[in-house]
Amino acid sequence: MVKLKTKRGIKPPMGYEDELDVLEQLNDNLRAAALRTATDDAGDSKQQAEWDIYRADHQRTRYVHDLMHNPANPNPPSKEFVDYCVAMDYINRQLLQTWRKAGYECACCVPCTRPNPQTGTVCICRIPKAMLPEERRGQPCVTCGCRGCATEDM
Ligand SMILES: [Zn+2]
Ligand SMILES: [Zn+2]
Repeated sequence: MVKLKTKRGIKPPMGYEDELDVLEQLNDNLRAAALRTATDDAGDSKQQAEWDIYRADHQRTRYVHDLMHNPANPNPPSKEFVDYCVAMDYINRQLLQTWRKAGYECACCVPCTRPNPQTGTVCICRIPKAMLPEERRGQPCVTCGCRGCATEDM
């Protein structure tokens, strides 16, 4: 059972113990990856650890997103539950908001949705596979290791 924490005077919402259990586990994955970026040597393993952080962040936020948007879920998250998750840093609010925008429903992470300030181009993972040359399709992007998250490809 998850030990519910309180922060900034926000009380854990009632009736979401199972969901918070899952979130706690997903956040453990994130913390483990964050720890590895701090301890691993530079190079491939460090990049992999950074990608793992993005993946864990996506997973935990997607979990709440899917709870919100699954019509078969008998216990849809209340606003109080979502607010609590944000306040506790259990989910990435920016990412959750990004998914509301048309064309960004499946975006991997927030940085990949922003044009590169130097080149003005978006991340390769945001480009529909049909618009990429064959050899670049399914290649992991440098930012988060995403292999393609264009809405057109979902
Ligand atoms: Zn992506
Ligand atoms: Zn990307």
